[in-house]
Amino acid sequence: MEKINRQRLQGLLEQFSSFGATGKNGVSRLSLSEEDLAARGKFIEISEEIGLSVTVDDMGNLYATLPGKEDLPPIAMGSHLDSVVKGGRFDGTLGVVAGLEVVRTIVERNVETKHPITVINFTNEEGARFDPAMMSSGVLAGKFAKEDMLQSSDTEGMTFGQALEQSGYAGEVGNRLKEAAAFVELHIEQGPVLEHNAEEIGVIEGVMGMACYEISLKGESNHAGTTPIPMRKDPMFASAQIMVELQRELKKLPEDLVYTIGRINAYPNIHTVIPNEVTFTIEARHTNMDVIRQVEKMIEHLPKMVERCMLSSRKLWGRDTVEFNRDIVQAVSESAEALGFKSRKMYSGAGHDAQFIASYIPAAMIFVPSAKGYSHREDEYTSFEDCAKGADVLLNTVLKLDRSAGLQENKVLEENRA
Ligand SMILES: [Zn+2]
Repeated sequence: MEKINRQRLQGLLEQFSSFGATGKNGVSRLSLSEEDLAARGKFIEISEEIGLSVTVDDMGNLYATLPGKEDLPPIAMGSHLDSVVKGGRFDGTLGVVAGLEVVRTIVERNVETKHPITVINFTNEEGARFDPAMMSSGVLAGKFAKEDMLQSSDTEGMTFGQALEQSGYAGEVGNRLKEAAAFVELHIEQGPVLEHNAEEIGVIEGVMGMACYEISLKGESNHAGTTPIPMRKDPMFASAQIMVELQRELKKLPEDLVYTIGRINAYPNIHTVIPNEVTFTIEARHTNMDVIRQVEKMIEHLPKMVERCMLSSRKLWGRDTVEFNRDIVQAVSESAEALGFKSRKMYSGAGHDAQFIASYIPAAMIFVPSAKGYSHREDEYTSFEDCAKGADVLLNTVLKLDRSAGLQENKVLEENRA
């Protein structure tokens, strides 16, 4: 089994964590910000140092490619260098720099691959500056229209299109990732399961389906001191009732269903005023879409009147469970086993670029443990040892895929085409 250079990978992780460093081990590296541009510059510098050719597409996605021996589509790896505000050093960055380290190892050992090997940095994965998340992989996969994305603006009113133009990273449409033999994304788990079970590698079979709704309760605003309780239409207490009711019903569904009320708004949101409207979101995620459908039914069948308040709900968005390519999942699993790492097959609860890429390129993911499951915060942590194990699995997966005969054909699972 081949292994990457652990020290060098650690050096890369440390180097990239200096771009947008928060001083508390985290990074703030919003997409196309000065900090992100510095990280991109470093990505290009290292790629060229290794001898890779770098191209940029019209969404600012970066591709660093090592040529292959044969005229075949590339095997691609990658993730994203952007972060949320006060995010972690490993989220996204690991998948990109591990890709560089994998290619450097291949070059250094004089391993000749049949396929070209490409490392990708996807633009604006986090969606923290420009909504939505996974913007550029979404455009590549045809999930989002580029014209709409160019109009998405940050809090300062600058559009993604303007930021892209100014950055100098508005490249050619022709450089987009059109076909590839495989795409493999190494990422931190961003959850506690691997650490909790003392496992080193997550073999990711797909991304959980989900549904997200906004529920609104409309009542009547009035003075908090002068309006007797029986004469009120108070949507806040009505919402509280509905939330408790939802939790009671959701608990009856399979216990690996996850659900969250993440946002709640009261209007006018003044402590001396009974609100006239309260809205809150509820989202649920599970691998089995039948379970998600049950949640949807539950929400759609909520009473229309609660405590004299009017209830309505609307679906904000959802996604079907994405199944990754079985051959690649298998290659990841076998690589982990051959390296002697304890692994677990699991689904990702979080969204990743790989989920969109999987709609037109055979794809899979590798997870490494997140300490305490923390992510999107400055104290997000994965030991350099665990990062290196993930990179070892990535390296061996890529080499295994390169040797396997059937890879040339684009074996996209039918269900991923939707
Ligand atoms: Zn990420």
